[in-house]
Amino acid sequence: MLGTGDFTHPAWFEQLRENLVPAEPGLFRLGTELDRDISRTLPGSLAAAQVRFMLSVEISTIYRQGERSRKIHHLVYMPDFEAAEVLNRGLGKVADLSSDGRPIVSLDSRDLLEMTLSSGDGAYLVPAHVWTPWFGVFGSKSGFDTIEECYGDLTDHIFALETGLSSDPAMNWRVSGLDRYRLVSYSDAHSPPIVGRETTVFETELDYFSILDALRTGNGHAGTIEFFPEEGKYHVDGHRKCGVRMDPQETRLRGGICPVCGRKLTVGVLSRVEDLADRPEGFRPDGAAGFRNLVPLPEIVGEVLGFGPKSKKVGAEVDRLTELMGPELAILELVPVDEIAVHSPQLAEAVGRLRRGEVTKEPGYDGEFGTIRVFEPDEPKQTLF
Ligand SMILES: [Zn+2]
Ligand SMILES: [Zn+2]
Repeated sequence: MLGTGDFTHPAWFEQLRENLVPAEPGLFRLGTELDRDISRTLPGSLAAAQVRFMLSVEISTIYRQGERSRKIHHLVYMPDFEAAEVLNRGLGKVADLSSDGRPIVSLDSRDLLEMTLSSGDGAYLVPAHVWTPWFGVFGSKSGFDTIEECYGDLTDHIFALETGLSSDPAMNWRVSGLDRYRLVSYSDAHSPPIVGRETTVFETELDYFSILDALRTGNGHAGTIEFFPEEGKYHVDGHRKCGVRMDPQETRLRGGICPVCGRKLTVGVLSRVEDLADRPEGFRPDGAAGFRNLVPLPEIVGEVLGFGPKSKKVGAEVDRLTELMGPELAILELVPVDEIAVHSPQLAEAVGRLRRGEVTKEPGYDGEFGTIRVFEPDEPKQTLF
């Protein structure tokens, strides 16, 4: 299941209309010919997969509230093209929808939520990457301390929060006010090669309304698959240009000021969670859905081969592995290590370590991605391939 992304953009909306056909209630699939053409380009182990689409878009609201500038990103979902058209028409009056796939609108978050809900039955909104400093509802730069401050009288229509790359459910569990929200995790649709690496697991019927129901009630919401939050661009605090990276404790000791340039540090997700947390680290609320942390397969293969995750060599090896063993998530999570070892002993070792959580983390800060490694820099890697 994938979000289409960007359905507010007129050109993309046309593409979606032309190429998607209705499948289960509220869901779409590619038209038969297009699906066949794409399947031909995929390894047999992947070509047979059923892929479904849900109409989705990320929207950026920028406005003033309480004497401060607010910049909040929201994920919006629609059950059909008619509802999406209603929203597009409304938004088109206050924003230029053709300038960006993630449009910027000068509406209050509450008013965007109202427009969403009135677009059609089953339309809903999920605050996006809630902790990121610049565009998260709890962000240190332009966010709020509670969901209520942001969505006002319509807050009851918010039932899920997206954790983003820089936070995982365990961090969110420390804030008791968030217990009533389902935690979801989605990839950045603007980076196609990593689509699907963060994902939410549902145990429901395959249809839009069953998924919506699972998000509302928690029944059928089976948790998330996440990057390690340290890999996110805003996990800890710092200044990228000054080469300064700090843990929340150190930031506090230094009064939030950069020791190099003397200006305010960019305060990341971990610090913000510490600010709003009313529970200790490691607390787990009753009934909370679980999660697992993974590292993308190209990054692990890149480490093994000693090339970048986007290099041709790594791409070819990932293709070979998926051809032999099936989809990436299955390789990372389910395929027995012994079986992986038949095709790549080093990958088997790496996946074993990943599954045991034996990884080295260098946290991201101020827009710089963090790194997660399964091997130490001086460990021999090439020889077994
Ligand atoms: Zn965003
Ligand atoms: Zn600085």
